[in-house]
Amino acid sequence: MKMISLLGSTGSIGVNALDVVRRNPDRFAVAAMTAGSNVELFAQQVKEFKPSLISVFNSSKLEELKELLKGEDVEILTGEEGTVNVATHSDISLVVSAIVGSAGLAPSMAAIKSGKDLAIANKETLVVAGELVLREAKRKVNIIPIDSEHSAILQALNGEKEERIKKIILTGSGGPFRTFTKEKMENVTVKEALNHPNWSMGAKITIDSATMMNKGLEWIEAKWLFGLDTCIEIIVHPQSIIHSMIEFVDTSIMAQLGMPDMRVPIAYALTYPDRIECDFPSLDLAEMKQLTFEEPDYEKFPCIKLAQEALETGQTMPAVLNAANEVAVQAFLDEAIPFKDIAETIRTTMHNHKCHAIDSLEDVQIADQWAREEAKKRITVAH
Ligand code: NAD
Ligand code: MG
Repeated sequence: MKMISLLGSTGSIGVNALDVVRRNPDRFAVAAMTAGSNVELFAQQVKEFKPSLISVFNSSKLEELKELLKGEDVEILTGEEGTVNVATHSDISLVVSAIVGSAGLAPSMAAIKSGKDLAIANKETLVVAGELVLREAKRKVNIIPIDSEHSAILQALNGEKEERIKKIILTGSGGPFRTFTKEKMENVTVKEALNHPNWSMGAKITIDSATMMNKGLEWIEAKWLFGLDTCIEIIVHPQSIIHSMIEFVDTSIMAQLGMPDMRVPIAYALTYPDRIECDFPSLDLAEMKQLTFEEPDYEKFPCIKLAQEALETGQTMPAVLNAANEVAVQAFLDEAIPFKDIAETIRTTMHNHKCHAIDSLEDVQIADQWAREEAKKRITVAH
């Protein structure tokens, strides 16, 4: 029985992770879990999965949650400290991090430091502090990606040496605006941007997919996970069936295919390096008929290059890119800025940043905070 801690249980990845646990009650149990503020769903999950420790991030929801769980045998905490306690619970061996944004960094670091393996969906943690996280992990724990592309790369690698990789071919759907002209993209609405063609996900990553910042963040994530010197090419594949590929030095290409269903990479991360039988819908290639590919349009989707520049600059720049993106995406969702200003906000914030080295979690948090304030200033001035 693998004892798990789940961070972000009420989100899109959290709900899918619980479904994998639900289907395999003899293999997995959730000993601890956290959520942000959706206490109704959280209370239902607690009643079903019976963890011994839980935490709700939003402290104004604590009393309501306690009321909903009256009579349940569970310890209830709150705030970041509560999240960290859940991530380091003594009964567990694996933490699933499904929190959104750089808020996932501190609990992930705490989990690694206390010797827990980390199944990570929360790509922002690797974007803002990849070096720090991996340095800490290398000594003692496994980091297993849940992001479908990175799970695909791990599966295609299949234990071979990273030196044998010629390049990684990172696929992306292109999002809802793949076929829009640059002019048409200027006036897209929040509703249009939230309408992803293939995946149903949380709001932040759905907007990241619409700007293709998601592919930029994943490019950084892949560099940390599979080697900074590894060549990574991005290719648009609108059907989201090939989840990524590796071309090896002998030009042979290994790809991982499957339906766009996050439960597949989640189940793999929970059982890695093993696999378990899953009764999810199978891919029907004859029905699919064709898989197509195209170059990404870097002019229409400037966020990809911004992310690549941030990693090339290094130091605090990726943390600044990420924080500015989080602020800009929220402002777009709040209808405070138009779609095209997401990239502009990030660009200006990066331009105004004076980089410094990262030696600790605090260094990242200072840069993150600076970038949030800087991005907000720009949003207020421009609108
Ligand atoms: P979501 O918004 O649906 O869920 C986020 C979860 O985190 C919720 O449970 C929320 O309550 C919790 N949360 C938010 N802020 C928190 C905080 N400060 N402290 C504690 N908990 C907090 O997001 P999602 O779509 O499930 O994505 C989660 C992560 O997984 C993101 O980093 C995303 O990029 C990544 N990811 C998601 C998918 C997907 O299919 N949804 C695919 C690949 C990667
Ligand atoms: Mg992905």
